[in-house]
Amino acid sequence: MDDIFELDVEPPARTASDREAFFVPKPGLSGLAPDFFAPAPTGCHRKKNSKSTFPLNPKSAAFLARHYPQAKPCQWNQWHWQLKHRITSLSVLETVLDLTADERKALQPGKDMLPMAVTPYYASLLDPRDPKQPLRRCVIPTMDEHRILPCEEGDPLGEEQDSPVPGLVHRYPDRVLFLVTDFCSTYCRYCTRSRRVGKRETAQGPGRWEAALRYIGRTVQVRDVLISGGDPLTMPDHALEYLLQRIRAIDHVEIIRIGTKVPMVLPQRITASLTHMLKRYHPLFISIHSAHAEELTPEAALACSRLADAGIPLGGQTVLLKGINDTIAALTSLFQGQLRNRIRPYYLYQCDQVRGTGHFRTSVNTGLDLIRGLRGHTSGYAVPHYVVDLPRGGGKTPLCPEYFQGRDRDELIFKNYAGELFRVYDPADVFASQKAGAA
Ligand code: SF4
Repeated sequence: MDDIFELDVEPPARTASDREAFFVPKPGLSGLAPDFFAPAPTGCHRKKNSKSTFPLNPKSAAFLARHYPQAKPCQWNQWHWQLKHRITSLSVLETVLDLTADERKALQPGKDMLPMAVTPYYASLLDPRDPKQPLRRCVIPTMDEHRILPCEEGDPLGEEQDSPVPGLVHRYPDRVLFLVTDFCSTYCRYCTRSRRVGKRETAQGPGRWEAALRYIGRTVQVRDVLISGGDPLTMPDHALEYLLQRIRAIDHVEIIRIGTKVPMVLPQRITASLTHMLKRYHPLFISIHSAHAEELTPEAALACSRLADAGIPLGGQTVLLKGINDTIAALTSLFQGQLRNRIRPYYLYQCDQVRGTGHFRTSVNTGLDLIRGLRGHTSGYAVPHYVVDLPRGGGKTPLCPEYFQGRDRDELIFKNYAGELFRVYDPADVFASQKAGAA
């Protein structure tokens, strides 16, 4: 048993708005205990003979000592402690980072803006002095977010138009996207769902789940349910298990997938208790969102290995981001690192045309050049599908560099990964030419 679950407890002091937005069930729900969403308590009085099994990387250890001198490593390594101490205000952020004037201005509360939140763990990985550091750019807002391009929209993928019930997107024939929460422990500045995540007025709850569960139950072609949000792994075990049980009870649902960034921003959440519960719901797949190799710390490695040891296939999802991971070296390092952590790189997304994300978006040509720089130069397993999710609900469409150069009579001409030309015998109609030869 993980020692995180062998701790004595003290109640966390969250703000009222945090509780309402995330933990407290909506009124009028039947069949759910009043404390259904109550967070497990935090504390640090370990039981006799328990030993801490979660690592503390040197950067985080130094950050903990400097900024949370009252906290013990065993508290730091509890996910509830991390959630309770999320950094959500300018006043706290400026105690841990040297903020630029631009960052300060962007952190003024703004209507309709994606809120800022960073776990102390992820904050410990940020460079306090370099505003261009990739991880810092992923989570700290800048004034660039206020520049809206004509092509950008709040809901660029048209998810709302493909929602038969609130919180459920049914776009492809045999699968649905189930948005079970709008809460994330850490908000990515390029989030495709910035229109809804972190916004109280669109907070999800079991009331919304019921409508979605009923839809899945009556729609027999749905064989695959992707649970996403927000981040589903920020929910307590029992809330997540309630959902998994309800979905698993639907006969025609064959596989369940969970999309999460938790192993990279809140790896302490991946407890033995969680993985023990998850493995009761196979076949279960988890897609892990990561942006840069600097996220692959010993803590993240342990989180991934716990999930993989529970028999859960792990896929990697990465958004291509200008100045963050848009070089061959950065992507090679990330994808090889994912493989070392038992994550199969699955998708590299062209950054969606979300409002205020123009500063993150590369050209598609850049993306194709990057894939060309990976394919053949490293293991095929380390090369994900490069896709553009087409605006207004067109769906994910793969993009591939052109290796096929054309035909010369009965031969096809290809360029290999090193740029050399090769010919492959491929008569237009093999049988016709064989018959002609026999005659
Ligand atoms: S973890 Fe996912 S849902 Fe949450 S802010 Fe990042 S991209 Fe958006």
